[in-house]
Amino acid sequence: MHDSNFLKEHNARHLWHPMAHPADSLANPPQIIVGGEGVEIVDIDGHKSVDAVGGLWNVNLGYSCAPVKQAIAEQLDKLPYYSIFRGTTNDAVIELSTMLRDFFEPDGLSRAFFTSGGSDSVEIALRLARQYHKLRGEAGRIKFLSLKKGYHGTHTLGASVNGNANFRSAYEPLMPGCYHILAPYTYRNPFNETDPARLAQLCLAALEDEIRFQDPGTIAAFIMEPILGAGGVIPPHESFMPGVREICSKYGILLIADEVITAFGRTGSWSGSRHWGVKPDLLCCAKAITNGYFPFGAVMISDGVGEVFEKDETGKGSIGSGYTYSGHPVGAAAAIACLAETERLQVKDNAAARGEQLFRGLEALKHKHAVIGDVRGGHGLMCALELVADRETKAPIDKKTIGDVHRTTYENGAMVRVSGNNVILSPPLVLSEAHVDTILNALEAGFASVS
Ligand code: PMP
Repeated sequence: MHDSNFLKEHNARHLWHPMAHPADSLANPPQIIVGGEGVEIVDIDGHKSVDAVGGLWNVNLGYSCAPVKQAIAEQLDKLPYYSIFRGTTNDAVIELSTMLRDFFEPDGLSRAFFTSGGSDSVEIALRLARQYHKLRGEAGRIKFLSLKKGYHGTHTLGASVNGNANFRSAYEPLMPGCYHILAPYTYRNPFNETDPARLAQLCLAALEDEIRFQDPGTIAAFIMEPILGAGGVIPPHESFMPGVREICSKYGILLIADEVITAFGRTGSWSGSRHWGVKPDLLCCAKAITNGYFPFGAVMISDGVGEVFEKDETGKGSIGSGYTYSGHPVGAAAAIACLAETERLQVKDNAAARGEQLFRGLEALKHKHAVIGDVRGGHGLMCALELVADRETKAPIDKKTIGDVHRTTYENGAMVRVSGNNVILSPPLVLSEAHVDTILNALEAGFASVS
């Protein structure tokens, strides 16, 4: 293998990173990760750290999940690929759809449409929503509503419902007919409302106001993450998602839960929708469905939506969407093993317990370090620290300081993720109490270095 400097230089010259400036790789070379074991990763210089990012919120079972690795190897030997476009299917994907029906049964979701990842799942859900309304004779329902600060992937429909300017502005004009509602973000909102329940009511009122303004008969769907993830881990008040469900039902609007992060136990419940006691019409998942070992995703479909397509006799219910890798047998085999392991280990329970420990530890850090303006979490293993230059004005921290926190934390044994002025934590759900302590101690060193 080439040495670290050679690889870093070639990385900067020949490889563009997602969500990064191409000029940045030379000045700030990325860590070259060469190994993973349990919940730890090891870089090319032999430095080990607890992966407090869990890959990208997806390696829920860690890096040594033997049943998933074995399932992938066996499926590669048996049938490495075949399409499931009309006319063919494969046994692995059929078995998986049955398992997913059982898994999501409490969410009222019974059919699956398979994709190659989260952005694909979002795209398919939005397409299905428009098609559903057309099939029911409401062709005018074409618009989409979503939350500011929401993240819904990189494809054009998904980017159009994204609620963060940095994922949108370079690519505008995006799809017309997409409108954004105020998110229940207590730390920053135009009303300076710090009470989560009252802010949830204000956001629900804003949603209903926008629906009336747009004309309910023009709106196909509202898409939301049960807990905003990439936008900075923003859990809403418990009344919010049930309130959204009620408003959507009142106006005949489909509710799409984007659970690319929250499905499969991360929130301490098996799905983010279930966490809030809500049944969505469509649910997008990906990421942890294969523990990150294979690019794969699914849209889960409710009986109500499913039957409209299945009962169509005009032919217009035919699904004109799909990917070469929809229902990939290796991905399906990985997902079967992953689901079985997820349930066998009941990972949601550890996510809840370790999430509580992590959240408490982060709140203790906030008391010691003035750069921590806000700590968010408390719902399983997804937390964020929002860093500020000044707690009074809440001015965001500068890039250098947050970069220093990140680097020192890494040097002290934990990989965390920086997104804007947030430090984001989403470790594997199988981590131990001692691993959480390692993350907290590493962060303590990170913050001490800038205090
Ligand atoms: N939706 C949400 C809520 C996500 O967090 C992400 C990815 N972080 C996506 C969609 C896009 O998924 P992918 O990166 O697999 O395309």
